[in-house]
Amino acid sequence: MRHFSLAYIDGAFVPVQGNEVVDIVNPATEERIGTATLGNRDDVRLAVAAARRAQPAFGRSTKQERIDMLLRLQAAVLARTDEIREATIEEYGGPLSRAQWVADYASQCFANAVKTLEDYAFTRQVGEATVVMEPVGVAALMTPWNSTAGSICNKLASALAAGCACVIKPSERSPIQAQVIAEAIHDAGLPPGVVNIVNGRGADVGSEISTHPGIAKISFTGSTPTGKAILRAGAETMKRVSLALTGKSATVILEDADLAKVMPLALSAGFLNNGQACIAGTRILVPRARLAEAIGYVKTAVAGLRVGDPRDAQTVIGPLVNQAQYDRIQRFIRAGLEEGATLVAGGEGRPEHLSRGYFVKPTVFADVRNDMQIAREEIFGPVLCLLAYDDEEEAVRIANDSPYGLQAYVFSSDPKRAHRVAERLEAGGVMVNAIRPALTAPFGGVKQSGLGREYGVFGLEAFLEPKTIVSA
Ligand code: NAD
Repeated sequence: MRHFSLAYIDGAFVPVQGNEVVDIVNPATEERIGTATLGNRDDVRLAVAAARRAQPAFGRSTKQERIDMLLRLQAAVLARTDEIREATIEEYGGPLSRAQWVADYASQCFANAVKTLEDYAFTRQVGEATVVMEPVGVAALMTPWNSTAGSICNKLASALAAGCACVIKPSERSPIQAQVIAEAIHDAGLPPGVVNIVNGRGADVGSEISTHPGIAKISFTGSTPTGKAILRAGAETMKRVSLALTGKSATVILEDADLAKVMPLALSAGFLNNGQACIAGTRILVPRARLAEAIGYVKTAVAGLRVGDPRDAQTVIGPLVNQAQYDRIQRFIRAGLEEGATLVAGGEGRPEHLSRGYFVKPTVFADVRNDMQIAREEIFGPVLCLLAYDDEEEAVRIANDSPYGLQAYVFSSDPKRAHRVAERLEAGGVMVNAIRPALTAPFGGVKQSGLGREYGVFGLEAFLEPKTIVSA
């Protein structure tokens, strides 16, 4: 049993002011593996004060000094890659291959930021004016539980590259992962106050951050309702806000696609991270004439998916994060049945071979209409919908008929045609005939999937503000 009760403020691990203690439960075994004492508003005030003290000097640091800091962070996070992977598996049941990817990605974020920074011109001439890109000020980085290490490192790398001191608020559901990252940050030996971390609930720590006048910028990843609350709360002090939010992504399979090749890809886009991924392709659009064929592939593929111990390299789907998430998925499966969708694979309950853990059956529905609850709401578990369409126009219309627009996928044997369809989809990003993230290209959502972009130059500029200087 481990206990976590520290915040990281002003370059040191300090006892938290809050006193709420929460259990940490391994979702694969349902065993209590530790406890965490959560921070409160007082911890936030101390963290913001430390960041504000650090901001003036850090904001004036040179590009080279920031590159050196980012390289130190890269090395420190890289040294903890195994610990990050283990914490990711233990704390939320991320399957091994995904957990390894997240752990590798965490240090890569700093290397990517170094490259971006090396090529970036902070001063440029625009007409008669000199435009200087300045750090926006102290930034708050708030992250969800399903990608703790990745979200923190990605945001932190961009914020530091821009010259913003930070207050990080990880999810209260990921204290182990947050602790590993905090230790790596400490090892990097940055000036005190440049990075501060307070773990706690959204209702107090998150809310204090969203309203605190000392915070200039919020970079948030999480659900759309929380993103809206943060945007409203931040309006009073006119915080700059970037939001990476909920998805309900469409996978468009065009009628010329080789289903034997693309159905496994479409299913892995949907079941990514046990279905707990913002970019999961959960609405799979199939030409009506090929629906029966697609259902055949789904049945065979899902029957062969290993569900179980996330540490097992053969496992494709591990447990959901907690009992609440398990119950939520069951509700969605029941809703799908009640609304008249046809179960093609999976269904209610735990897989028969598992007696413990928050495991659900990977589930696929056919005969789904796009107005059904299971097609409109983000389920955040391994539950997918097959939607039939008659022609390309209808496919595009159904794909775009969603309040969300984070990611989309297009599969076709004709790359030009696939590209043409990709251009018509309302999404922040589209992957064509592949599942391959582009980690320096802009990432974010349109519509209610977010505001602003992360990664590369776009991610850097989210922490910068242009100043125009005109001289006689
Ligand atoms: P969540 O919105 O419940 O919580 C995210 C963070 O916000 C947590 O740190 C939480 O403590 C905090 N929070 C909650 N209420 C708050 C408030 N009122 N004020 C300030 N902070 C508050 O989301 P979650 O359940 O942790 O994560 C899952 C969601 O995140 C899904 O909707 C998923 O799609 C989304 N997500 C999006 C991306 C993306 O890049 N677009 C990536 C990962 C996850």
